[in-house]
Amino acid sequence: MRKVSFLTCEINPNKKIKVNFSGCNWNCKGCFAIAKNEIGRELSVNALVDLIIKSSNLIYGKLIEDIQATGGEPALNSNYLLSFIKQLRKIGVRKIGISTNGHLLDEKLISELSNLHVDYIKIDLKAYSDEIHKWYTGFSNENVLKAVRLLHKHNLNFYVRTIFIPDIMEFSEIEKIAKFLSSVDRNIQYRLYQFTPQYLDNKISRAPGEDEMLKNFEIAKKYLKNVHYFVYSKKIGFSQDYKFVEVRANEVLENFKKIDKISKKIDKNWDIKYFTFNQILSLNR
Ligand code: SF4
Repeated sequence: MRKVSFLTCEINPNKKIKVNFSGCNWNCKGCFAIAKNEIGRELSVNALVDLIIKSSNLIYGKLIEDIQATGGEPALNSNYLLSFIKQLRKIGVRKIGISTNGHLLDEKLISELSNLHVDYIKIDLKAYSDEIHKWYTGFSNENVLKAVRLLHKHNLNFYVRTIFIPDIMEFSEIEKIAKFLSSVDRNIQYRLYQFTPQYLDNKISRAPGEDEMLKNFEIAKKYLKNVHYFVYSKKIGFSQDYKFVEVRANEVLENFKKIDKISKKIDKNWDIKYFTFNQILSLNR
Protein backbone atom coordinates (compact mmCIF):
# COMPACT_ATOMS: atom_id res chain seq x y z
CA MET A 1 0.00 0.00 0.00
CA ARG A 2 1.08 3.60 -0.62
CA LYS A 3 -0.54 6.91 -0.06
CA VAL A 4 -1.39 8.91 -3.17
CA SER A 5 -2.41 12.54 -2.86
CA PHE A 6 -3.48 13.40 -6.42
CA LEU A 7 -3.19 12.73 -10.15
CA THR A 8 -2.26 15.50 -12.57
CA CYS A 9 -3.90 14.81 -15.93
CA GLU A 10 -2.09 16.98 -18.51
CA ILE A 11 -4.07 18.09 -21.52
CA ASN A 12 -1.50 20.47 -23.02
CA PRO A 13 1.20 20.42 -24.28
CA ASN A 14 1.34 16.69 -23.46
CA LYS A 15 -1.29 14.12 -22.73
CA LYS A 16 0.07 12.47 -19.64
CA ILE A 17 -1.02 11.41 -16.15
CA LYS A 18 1.37 12.16 -13.29
CA VAL A 19 0.76 10.08 -10.17
CA ASN A 20 1.76 12.03 -7.06
CA PHE A 21 2.91 9.49 -4.47
CA SER A 22 2.95 10.91 -0.96
CA GLY A 23 5.97 11.09 1.31
CA CYS A 24 9.57 12.05 0.69
CA ASN A 25 12.89 11.06 2.27
CA TRP A 26 14.28 14.60 1.82
CA ASN A 27 13.41 17.90 3.35
CA CYS A 28 14.23 20.54 0.72
CA LYS A 29 14.06 24.11 1.93
CA GLY A 30 12.35 25.22 -1.30
CA CYS A 31 9.78 22.41 -1.41
CA PHE A 32 6.14 23.32 -1.77
CA ALA A 33 4.96 19.91 -3.02
CA ILE A 34 1.71 18.88 -1.35
CA ALA A 35 2.81 15.25 -1.74
CA LYS A 36 5.97 15.80 0.32
CA ASN A 37 4.09 14.70 3.44
CA GLU A 38 2.42 11.34 4.06
CA ILE A 39 -1.05 12.57 3.20
CA GLY A 40 -3.73 11.36 0.82
CA ARG A 41 -5.34 7.96 0.42
CA GLU A 42 -3.70 4.62 0.96
CA LEU A 43 -4.17 2.56 -2.21
CA SER A 44 -3.13 -0.92 -3.30
CA VAL A 45 -1.55 -1.15 -6.76
CA ASN A 46 -4.83 -2.54 -8.15
CA ALA A 47 -6.89 0.26 -6.59
CA LEU A 48 -4.49 2.87 -8.00
CA VAL A 49 -4.63 1.36 -11.48
CA ASP A 50 -8.44 1.33 -11.25
CA LEU A 51 -8.36 5.06 -10.33
CA ILE A 52 -6.07 5.76 -13.31
CA ILE A 53 -8.20 3.82 -15.80
CA LYS A 54 -11.41 5.56 -14.69
CA SER A 55 -9.79 9.03 -14.66
CA SER A 56 -8.28 8.39 -18.06
CA ASN A 57 -11.57 7.24 -19.59
CA LEU A 58 -13.38 10.27 -18.21
CA ILE A 59 -10.79 12.91 -19.14
CA TYR A 60 -9.30 11.55 -22.38
CA GLY A 61 -12.04 9.12 -23.49
CA LYS A 62 -9.50 6.27 -23.58
CA LEU A 63 -6.54 4.81 -21.71
CA ILE A 64 -3.76 7.39 -21.55
CA GLU A 65 -0.49 6.36 -23.26
CA ASP A 66 1.95 8.14 -20.93
CA ILE A 67 2.07 7.75 -17.14
CA GLN A 68 4.69 9.25 -14.83
CA ALA A 69 5.31 8.30 -11.21
CA THR A 70 6.23 11.39 -9.22
CA GLY A 71 5.73 12.75 -5.71
CA GLY A 72 6.91 13.13 -3.06
CA GLU A 73 9.39 10.41 -3.86
CA PRO A 74 8.09 7.50 -5.98
CA ALA A 75 11.03 5.21 -5.09
CA LEU A 76 10.31 5.31 -1.32
CA ASN A 77 8.69 1.88 -1.65
CA SER A 78 10.56 0.23 -4.51
CA ASN A 79 8.48 -2.99 -4.47
CA TYR A 80 5.30 -0.97 -4.84
CA LEU A 81 6.83 1.07 -7.66
CA LEU A 82 7.97 -2.02 -9.58
CA SER A 83 4.66 -3.76 -9.18
CA PHE A 84 2.84 -0.58 -10.28
CA ILE A 85 4.96 -0.40 -13.45
CA LYS A 86 4.33 -4.12 -14.20
CA GLN A 87 0.60 -3.58 -13.78
CA LEU A 88 0.65 -0.56 -16.12
CA ARG A 89 2.45 -2.62 -18.77
CA LYS A 90 -0.16 -5.37 -18.33
CA ILE A 91 -3.06 -3.02 -19.11
CA GLY A 92 -1.21 -1.65 -22.16
CA VAL A 93 0.29 1.68 -21.08
CA ARG A 94 2.87 2.49 -23.75
CA LYS A 95 5.11 5.02 -22.05
CA ILE A 96 6.14 4.98 -18.37
CA GLY A 97 8.35 7.52 -16.62
CA ILE A 98 9.64 8.31 -13.16
CA SER A 99 10.48 11.66 -11.60
CA THR A 100 12.81 11.17 -8.63
CA ASN A 101 15.29 12.86 -6.32
CA GLY A 102 17.59 9.92 -7.12
CA HIS A 103 18.66 9.15 -3.55
CA LEU A 104 17.19 5.62 -3.54
CA LEU A 105 18.17 4.62 -7.07
CA ASP A 106 20.75 1.96 -6.31
CA GLU A 107 22.13 -0.55 -8.82
CA LYS A 108 19.49 -3.21 -7.99
CA LEU A 109 16.56 -0.84 -8.52
CA ILE A 110 18.07 0.71 -11.65
CA SER A 111 18.66 -2.68 -13.24
CA GLU A 112 15.05 -3.67 -12.43
CA LEU A 113 13.77 -0.46 -14.00
CA SER A 114 15.91 -1.20 -17.01
CA ASN A 115 14.47 -4.75 -17.26
CA LEU A 116 10.98 -3.24 -17.21
CA HIS A 117 12.01 -0.87 -20.04
CA VAL A 118 11.04 2.30 -18.19
CA ASP A 119 10.89 4.92 -20.93
CA TYR A 120 12.23 8.00 -19.17
CA ILE A 121 13.60 9.10 -15.81
CA LYS A 122 13.87 12.66 -14.51
CA ILE A 123 16.47 12.95 -11.78
CA ASP A 124 17.24 16.01 -9.65
CA LEU A 125 20.78 17.18 -9.04
CA LYS A 126 20.07 20.03 -6.66
CA ALA A 127 23.74 20.98 -6.19
CA TYR A 128 27.21 19.58 -6.87
CA SER A 129 28.84 21.07 -3.77
CA ASP A 130 27.89 18.70 -1.00
CA GLU A 131 27.65 21.43 1.65
CA ILE A 132 24.99 23.25 -0.45
CA HIS A 133 23.20 19.96 -1.14
CA LYS A 134 23.17 19.02 2.54
CA TRP A 135 21.98 22.47 3.56
CA TYR A 136 19.18 22.46 0.99
CA THR A 137 17.93 18.84 1.18
CA GLY A 138 19.26 17.59 4.53
CA PHE A 139 21.28 14.87 2.72
CA SER A 140 24.53 14.30 0.87
CA ASN A 141 24.38 14.13 -2.94
CA GLU A 142 26.65 11.09 -3.01
CA ASN A 143 23.81 8.67 -3.95
CA VAL A 144 22.52 11.00 -6.65
CA LEU A 145 25.92 11.31 -8.33
CA LYS A 146 26.18 7.50 -8.24
CA ALA A 147 22.64 7.16 -9.62
CA VAL A 148 23.50 9.40 -12.60
CA ARG A 149 26.50 7.17 -13.41
CA LEU A 150 24.36 4.02 -13.03
CA LEU A 151 21.50 5.29 -15.19
CA HIS A 152 24.06 5.99 -17.87
CA LYS A 153 25.76 2.61 -17.40
CA HIS A 154 22.40 0.80 -17.74
CA ASN A 155 21.59 2.85 -20.80
CA LEU A 156 18.33 4.27 -19.46
CA ASN A 157 16.79 7.32 -21.08
CA PHE A 158 17.09 10.07 -18.46
CA TYR A 159 17.61 13.75 -17.95
CA VAL A 160 19.06 15.70 -15.06
CA ARG A 161 17.34 18.76 -13.61
CA THR A 162 18.55 21.64 -11.48
CA ILE A 163 16.50 24.48 -10.04
CA PHE A 164 18.70 27.56 -10.02
CA ILE A 165 18.42 29.32 -6.65
CA PRO A 166 20.14 32.70 -6.77
CA ASP A 167 22.28 33.78 -3.80
CA ILE A 168 22.34 30.19 -2.52
CA MET A 169 24.09 29.03 -5.71
CA GLU A 170 26.67 30.89 -7.75
CA PHE A 171 26.89 30.43 -11.54
CA SER A 172 29.97 28.33 -10.76
CA GLU A 173 27.67 25.72 -9.16
CA ILE A 174 26.00 25.13 -12.54
CA GLU A 175 29.45 24.89 -14.10
CA LYS A 176 30.45 22.21 -11.56
CA ILE A 177 27.29 20.19 -12.33
CA ALA A 178 27.83 20.50 -16.09
CA LYS A 179 31.48 19.45 -15.71
CA PHE A 180 30.46 16.42 -13.65
CA LEU A 181 27.80 15.37 -16.19
CA SER A 182 30.21 15.81 -19.09
CA SER A 183 32.71 13.59 -17.26
CA VAL A 184 30.03 10.85 -17.50
CA ASP A 185 28.87 11.72 -21.04
CA ARG A 186 28.61 15.03 -22.94
CA ASN A 187 25.29 13.82 -24.40
CA ILE A 188 23.47 13.66 -21.05
CA GLN A 189 20.36 15.84 -21.23
CA TYR A 190 20.40 18.69 -18.73
CA ARG A 191 17.52 21.04 -17.86
CA LEU A 192 17.63 24.22 -15.82
CA TYR A 193 14.60 25.66 -14.06
CA GLN A 194 13.94 28.89 -12.20
CA PHE A 195 13.46 28.89 -8.46
CA THR A 196 9.85 29.91 -7.64
CA PRO A 197 9.61 31.48 -4.16
CA GLN A 198 5.92 32.45 -4.48
CA TYR A 199 4.60 29.32 -2.76
CA LEU A 200 7.00 29.41 0.18
CA ASP A 201 6.43 30.92 3.63
CA ASN A 202 10.16 30.77 4.22
CA LYS A 203 11.59 33.03 1.50
CA ILE A 204 15.08 31.58 1.16
CA SER A 205 15.75 33.34 -2.15
CA ARG A 206 14.23 35.19 -5.10
CA ALA A 207 13.24 34.09 -8.61
CA PRO A 208 16.23 34.43 -10.96
CA GLY A 209 15.88 36.70 -13.98
CA GLU A 210 15.83 35.50 -17.58
CA ASP A 211 19.34 36.95 -18.02
CA GLU A 212 20.64 34.77 -15.19
CA MET A 213 19.01 31.67 -16.65
CA LEU A 214 20.50 32.46 -20.06
CA LYS A 215 23.93 32.82 -18.48
CA ASN A 216 23.53 29.42 -16.76
CA PHE A 217 22.48 27.91 -20.08
CA GLU A 218 25.56 29.31 -21.81
CA ILE A 219 27.83 27.99 -19.07
CA ALA A 220 26.32 24.49 -19.21
CA LYS A 221 26.46 24.50 -23.04
CA LYS A 222 30.25 24.73 -22.88
CA TYR A 223 30.32 21.21 -21.44
CA LEU A 224 27.12 19.48 -22.61
CA LYS A 225 25.42 19.00 -25.96
CA ASN A 226 21.78 18.84 -24.74
CA VAL A 227 20.93 21.73 -22.46
CA HIS A 228 17.55 23.45 -22.05
CA TYR A 229 16.43 26.18 -19.71
CA PHE A 230 12.93 27.23 -18.77
CA VAL A 231 11.53 30.57 -17.62
CA TYR A 232 7.98 31.46 -16.64
CA SER A 233 6.55 34.07 -18.94
CA LYS A 234 5.63 37.22 -16.99
CA LYS A 235 3.30 38.38 -19.75
CA ILE A 236 0.96 35.42 -20.11
CA GLY A 237 1.33 33.60 -16.78
CA PHE A 238 2.04 29.92 -16.49
CA SER A 239 -1.46 28.53 -16.98
CA GLN A 240 -1.98 29.69 -20.58
CA ASP A 241 0.31 27.18 -22.21
CA TYR A 242 -0.09 24.46 -19.61
CA LYS A 243 -3.53 22.91 -19.18
CA PHE A 244 -4.42 20.09 -16.87
CA VAL A 245 -7.16 18.57 -14.75
CA GLU A 246 -6.44 17.14 -11.32
CA VAL A 247 -7.92 14.17 -9.51
CA ARG A 248 -7.50 14.90 -5.80
CA ALA A 249 -7.82 12.59 -2.81
CA ASN A 250 -10.77 13.79 -0.71
CA GLU A 251 -8.38 13.64 2.26
CA VAL A 252 -6.19 16.47 0.84
CA LEU A 253 -8.80 18.97 -0.34
CA GLU A 254 -8.04 21.30 2.59
CA ASN A 255 -4.29 21.20 1.79
CA PHE A 256 -4.98 22.50 -1.71
CA LYS A 257 -6.83 25.62 -0.58
CA LYS A 258 -3.67 27.64 0.10
CA ILE A 259 -1.84 26.52 -3.05
CA ASP A 260 -4.88 27.25 -5.28
CA LYS A 261 -5.13 30.73 -3.72
CA ILE A 262 -1.47 31.53 -4.45
CA SER A 263 -1.73 30.19 -8.01
CA LYS A 264 -4.71 32.49 -8.60
CA LYS A 265 -2.71 35.43 -7.24
CA ILE A 266 0.22 34.68 -9.57
CA ASP A 267 -2.05 34.26 -12.58
CA LYS A 268 -5.54 35.73 -12.65
CA ASN A 269 -6.54 33.29 -15.43
CA TRP A 270 -5.74 30.34 -13.19
CA ASP A 271 -8.80 28.10 -13.08
CA ILE A 272 -7.95 24.64 -11.93
CA LYS A 273 -10.55 21.98 -12.62
CA TYR A 274 -10.53 18.93 -10.42
CA PHE A 275 -12.44 15.79 -9.57
CA THR A 276 -12.15 13.92 -6.28
CA PHE A 277 -11.07 10.31 -5.82
CA ASN A 278 -14.59 9.50 -4.54
CA GLN A 279 -16.22 10.96 -7.66
CA ILE A 280 -13.92 9.01 -9.98
CA LEU A 281 -14.10 5.74 -8.07
CA SER A 282 -17.89 5.78 -8.13
CA LEU A 283 -17.84 5.61 -11.96
CA ASN A 284 -17.97 2.40 -13.96
CA ARG A 285 -14.95 1.68 -16.16
S1 SF4 B 1 12.85 15.88 -3.14
FE1 SF4 B 1 11.12 16.94 -4.06
S2 SF4 B 1 9.32 16.32 -2.86
FE2 SF4 B 1 11.15 15.77 -1.69
S3 SF4 B 1 11.45 17.49 -0.30
FE3 SF4 B 1 12.72 17.83 -2.12
S4 SF4 B 1 11.45 19.08 -3.52
FE4 SF4 B 1 10.10 18.18 -1.95
